[in-house]
Amino acid sequence: IATSFPQVENNIHVVIRVRPLNSKEIRCGDTSTVDFPGNGQILVHGMPNGNSNQKEKTFSYDAVFEPASSQEDVFEFCGIKELIEMAVEGFRCTAFCYGQTGSGKTHTLTGPPGLFLQRPTAYHKDHGLILRSFVYLFQLLDKSSEIHYTLRASFLEIYNEKIIDLLNLGSSRKPLPIRWSKKARGFFVENLFTVVCEELDDLIAVLEEGMRNRSVGKHNMNEYSSRSHTILTINITSEIAAEGGVFISRTGKLNFVDLAGSEVTKKTQSGGKTLEEANNINKSLMVLGYCISSLSDPKRIGTHIPYRDSNLTKLLADSLAGNGVTLMIACISPAKSNQSESVNTLRYASRAKKI
Ligand code: ADP
Ligand code: MG
Repeated sequence: IATSFPQVENNIHVVIRVRPLNSKEIRCGDTSTVDFPGNGQILVHGMPNGNSNQKEKTFSYDAVFEPASSQEDVFEFCGIKELIEMAVEGFRCTAFCYGQTGSGKTHTLTGPPGLFLQRPTAYHKDHGLILRSFVYLFQLLDKSSEIHYTLRASFLEIYNEKIIDLLNLGSSRKPLPIRWSKKARGFFVENLFTVVCEELDDLIAVLEEGMRNRSVGKHNMNEYSSRSHTILTINITSEIAAEGGVFISRTGKLNFVDLAGSEVTKKTQSGGKTLEEANNINKSLMVLGYCISSLSDPKRIGTHIPYRDSNLTKLLADSLAGNGVTLMIACISPAKSNQSESVNTLRYASRAKKI
């Protein structure tokens, strides 16, 4: 029996994470251009002043994580726990990291490369949001004995609009097609490998395998990852025995999205393949921003949202539309040299939250 989703009050949560200045920036005498007045605010100094004389500008969000914030702080206070709880209840939920290359998206989601849970002991302090979420998810599921849960995980990459299955690369790396399902009223990736996960280790194995495959055969991993999006999805189906021997079942969803670098679009002006890539990235991030802002704008309910304009938004459509719940973590560098990109990211994040 398909149940309808309860109405969500506040379905978009936007937080900012500012990474520390890195050693190269410090060596070059770069300085921080942001301040933290508290209350979810961030202040940017020395804004280009145009006609007005405004030299500093304050932006407001649900939360701002300062450079000294730990991975644990981010996990505890960014809103991901609530998102996981809602996914368990049957909502379609998405957490994504947005920002220029080098701003800390992958650090926030997965932590340093190659760092995974040292079984069976506890976290490393650098473990990212995804792994912490896996642990929290199993803590929640273990608490309820009368509901039976089934978890199915998949992990894919979108590179230049092509869908690559990170759990099943195959020898040919043939991209998978996206199809529309009339029955499910949604888009899906045909033949995408999904893994039933019965315990924490199964989910960790999915993360490890996908991360490993992401870097296979990449000469310049950083360059490549700045141009691709990854989506790790956990479908959570719950079955509860109701009166008369019937089962009520519903499926929630939790997506973790590591987006392509938001800067790519402007810097690549050269022709050929890179420009095509840049256009694709540009378009998906633009459409994503548009879809998210319409989530928080009651006036746009019922208007046309261009989900179909990019593969990224096709795959996230069910969690962006109507009763989806979204957490956006916008990552920035505090450095003066990155200021214009950081301000672009702050503006993108503000638009997402705007009513
Ligand atoms: P992105 O995925 O946005 O391109 P990364 O997550 O790879 O950026 O971060 C770039 C570099 O900065 C990495 O070496 C990463 O370890 C480091 N870094 C990012 N955020 C933090 C942070 N909050 N604390 C410490 N180091 C960080
Ligand atoms: Mg990255």
